[in-house]
Amino acid sequence: MDAIDAALGAAEFADLLRHDAPLAEDALLLLCHPPDYLDRIRLAIPAAGIYQLDADTHVSNGSDDAARRAVGAACAAVDLVMGGRAANAFVAMRPPGHHAERATPMGFCLYGTVAIAARHAMERHGLSRVAVVDFDVHHGNGTQDLLWDERRAFFVSNHQMPLWPGSGRPEERGAYGNVLNVPLPPGTDGATFRRMCEDTVLPQLDRFAPELVLVSAGFDAHRDDPLAQLELVEEDFAWITGALCDIAARHAGGRLVSCLEGGYDLPALGASVAAHVRVLMEKGA
Ligand SMILES: [Zn+2]
Repeated sequence: MDAIDAALGAAEFADLLRHDAPLAEDALLLLCHPPDYLDRIRLAIPAAGIYQLDADTHVSNGSDDAARRAVGAACAAVDLVMGGRAANAFVAMRPPGHHAERATPMGFCLYGTVAIAARHAMERHGLSRVAVVDFDVHHGNGTQDLLWDERRAFFVSNHQMPLWPGSGRPEERGAYGNVLNVPLPPGTDGATFRRMCEDTVLPQLDRFAPELVLVSAGFDAHRDDPLAQLELVEEDFAWITGALCDIAARHAGGRLVSCLEGGYDLPALGASVAAHVRVLMEKGA
């Protein structure tokens, strides 16, 4: 978060509208998670120190609030763009959310932030076609689980394979063909990534004609990232951001909400977020 704050502290971002992240009430979390899961997370939060939910996912006494603020921020961003008070939005929050399944925390994630934002857009704003595009280097298994049988959503994930969590094969298509998984081999560079998007992801998004585009914006497909072996650079993130904004412009009045997921090389993360937000500002102007 410090790396992102520093990057977005540059003069070119001075005109951004900045909002505090509200704490999500249970009602929002219940759009995707069962009540006993909320209790389980609450009970796991230690008074002091760290508690390990699994090998990757650790919580301290601030974790539930932080994860709830990520959800609250994503839903507030949906409200802003649906109300016409912002053209698009970037939700700079951690922890990420796209690995949290219905009743299982995973991969640093407690709640399915972007899936909850999608359900919120459907329930609160009456949308019937919400696209969720996940370009984090890891498969968005949690988002896929939460939206698997959701006819109103189209979930697209491109990710390195083989790589943790191991899911995200092309045969995983959702209950209604509403899931598109595009695995990429280690070493995939920006040119190959763009060609895959132009051949597969963007045409299918156009056919879906979303009323709102949500993005799981992970920046760990960057070539400097220590967690994976894709070879993207800032310009590739700017390119996909522009392409997704163009989809939103064609079908959704430009409405796009991007939620931070991964990104673990701090200089690459800051520079990639700056490239991403720069395009959101240009396209939203
Ligand atoms: Zn990731």
